[in-house]
Amino acid sequence: FLKGKRALVTGSTSGIGLAIARELSAEGAEVTLNGFGDADEIAKLCDELGATHSGANLLKSDEIETMMAEAGPLDILVNNAGMQHVSPVEDFPVDRFEMIIALNLTAVFHTTRLAVPGMKENGWGRIINTASAHSKTASPFKSAYNASKHGVDGFTKTIALELAQTGVTANCISPGYVWTPLIEGQIPDTMKARGLTEEEVINDVLLAKQPTKKFVQVDEVGALAAFLCREEMGNVTGANWSIDGGWTAE
Ligand code: NAD
Repeated sequence: FLKGKRALVTGSTSGIGLAIARELSAEGAEVTLNGFGDADEIAKLCDELGATHSGANLLKSDEIETMMAEAGPLDILVNNAGMQHVSPVEDFPVDRFEMIIALNLTAVFHTTRLAVPGMKENGWGRIINTASAHSKTASPFKSAYNASKHGVDGFTKTIALELAQTGVTANCISPGYVWTPLIEGQIPDTMKARGLTEEEVINDVLLAKQPTKKFVQVDEVGALAAFLCREEMGNVTGANWSIDGGWTAE
């Protein structure tokens, strides 16, 4: 149902973004991938999905502008690239804090401002932002991440209102813990910040949040993103969709 639609998914060389890109491509969309990684592996992914790739570093607004110009007018924009850092606020490295806000929030502003004119002209568009359960609730030691994701929620609602009569929707998807390199990477820091073993971090910190006691799977997030692109979802805008095993219901 996405044949003829052009999509860009940021941070799609790994994890959730890659699963979203796979799902949109499987539904017929022409996809531009973005993100870092091994050149051969990225070339293989492009072949597999019939996709193109932009290696733009989203911390740099000029690289975002080049990526958006090369991708051309978009029907679907998925802002998914994101990073995490776990530390008590008084020790939080200032440059990491600024980097997380720049990637998780400011880059979303840049891609959106550049995509909106084309979508408005077309009278159709889907903007989907990967936020997080941490856009609705907080856990300690993630001040930059939680601030950025709450920011993405507010930004998305604002855009939804601005675009309400244009045929363009803007929504957040908010996963709980999904087993990806981002989660694996924060386990050692959480062990250090809380003085726990790896097993304790997985069972007592991460899965303790999710009533299902299961990690969310990347293809489940991909399916939700594709669902929001359906014609029938035209009146779903400004929403923040939880996919978190019940975490934020508590
Ligand atoms: P990941 O680390 O597997 O993938 C991150 C992607 O972003 C990669 O493709 C990477 O190359 C790209 N990237 C990183 N820095 C970049 C930069 N400066 N410029 C361009 N691309 C860059 O992460 P993931 O777990 O798949 O997370 C994807 C999104 O989902 C993030 O926004 C994250 O906050 C959110 N999220 C993840 C979880 C989870 O449990 N994994 C939960 C909630 C929300």
